[in-house]
Amino acid sequence: MLEVSNPFFNAMEQLDKAAGYISLDERIHTILKQPDRFIEVAIPVVMDNGTVKIFTGYRSQYNNSLGVYKGGIRYHWNVTVDEVKALSFWMTIKCATVNIPMGGAKGGVIVNPKELSEGELERLSRGYMKKLWMVLGSDKDVPAPDVYTTPQIMGWMRDEFEKITGKKDPGVITGKSLDQGGSEGRGFSTAQGGAYCTRELAKNMNLVPEETRIAIQGFGNAGSHMAKILSKMGYKIIAVSDSKGGIVMNEGLDIEALTKHKEDTGSVVGFARTTEISNDDILTMDVDILVPAALENVITPDNAKNIKATAIVELANGPTTPDADEILKEKGIIVVPDVLANAGGVTVSYFEWEQNVKGEHWTEEAVLEKLEKIMVDSFHEVWNTKLQYNTDMRTAAFIKAVERVSSTLKETL
Ligand code: GLU
Repeated sequence: MLEVSNPFFNAMEQLDKAAGYISLDERIHTILKQPDRFIEVAIPVVMDNGTVKIFTGYRSQYNNSLGVYKGGIRYHWNVTVDEVKALSFWMTIKCATVNIPMGGAKGGVIVNPKELSEGELERLSRGYMKKLWMVLGSDKDVPAPDVYTTPQIMGWMRDEFEKITGKKDPGVITGKSLDQGGSEGRGFSTAQGGAYCTRELAKNMNLVPEETRIAIQGFGNAGSHMAKILSKMGYKIIAVSDSKGGIVMNEGLDIEALTKHKEDTGSVVGFARTTEISNDDILTMDVDILVPAALENVITPDNAKNIKATAIVELANGPTTPDADEILKEKGIIVVPDVLANAGGVTVSYFEWEQNVKGEHWTEEAVLEKLEKIMVDSFHEVWNTKLQYNTDMRTAAFIKAVERVSSTLKETL
C-alpha cells in the first residue's frame, strides 16, 4: 500500500529539528507539540433537492502567544484532522517568521465545493459559522481563505457572524471582497510575497530574470498570480499545471492569454502551441526555479532525487516532506520554505484586520509598500540565519519563529 505522509508528523519533525539548534526549553517544546484547542463540528446543509447532508468541519487553534489565532479555512475532499493541525502549526510559525503580531490557526471542511450549487455553498459556509462563531472574532480567532475558499465565502461568513452576535465586526474574517471591507492587494498578496522572495533569492544566486526559467505546479489563486507577477518582472514561465494536467512552452508562456484560456475552458491544458506534461513530471523539469503552488506532500523522497531546479520557492503549504528536504539539501538545492515564501497572504490579512479594527482603508500602494518591506526584511533575516547556523532556510525560519513564540510563551508559565 502506498504510504501517505502525515503532515502533522512532518511538521513536528521540522519543529524538533529547529529545537535542536537552539536548545529549546523542553517545557516550551512540549507545549508546541499540540494545538491549544481543536474543534470538530457537524454541519447540516439543506441540499437543493430538499435532503439534509452533514459535512464535517474543523478549526484548530494552535497557538496565540504572539496575537489572535489566524489562518484560513480549506474546503477539500481530502481534509483530515492531522492536516488541519499541521496547517495551524505552520500558521503559528509563518506569522512569527515574518514577525507579525498574530497566532496560528486553521480550519477545514471535508467537501468537494465543485460539486455544490452556489446556494449549497452559501448554506455550508453559513453553517460553518453557526457552529463555530463562539470561538471566533476579531479579538479571538480570524479565519481567511485557503484552498478552494473565496472572498465571497468570507463575505457570507462575516455576515452570518454579525447576524448571530448582533454586532458589526468586519475584522472577524479577512480575505473579504473590497465592498465587504477587504484590503487592497489581498487577492494577489500570497503571490506578491512569493515574488518578492523570488527576486531576493535571484539576487543572492546571481540569476538574471530574463534567463531564469520557472515551472509552477498549481494555477489556483496563488499559482496563477505568481505566474502573472513573475512574468511581468521578466522571468520566463516555461511550464504550469492545474488539477487537470500541465503544459510546457520553452520560449516562455504568455500568461495573460493563458489566464483567458483557463477562464474559458476551466484548465490550462490545451493552450495553443504547448506540449502536455503531467502534474508529477512538472516537478522534475529542467528549470532554474520550481514553484509548488498546490497542495502538501508533492516533493517526496521518490521524486526529490530527480529534481533539477537549483531552487524551490514553496507557495503551497507543506509541499516538501522532511525526508525530501534532506535529499534536496544534499543536492545543494535551496528551498525558500512555505512559512516565508507564502507569508504574503497572511501579512496582508493582518493589514486587512488592522484596517477593519481601526476603521481605515489603505491604498494598494501603501499595502504593497508595507508588504515588500516585511517580506524583504524577513527573507534576508532567514537567509542570514541559515548562514549563521549552517543549515537550510526552513530550519532557519523555524529557529527565528520558535525563538519569538518561546520568549512570549515563557512569560505565561
Ligand atoms: N490561507 C493562507 C495561508 O495559508 C492565508 C491565511 C490568512 O490570511 O490568515 O497562509
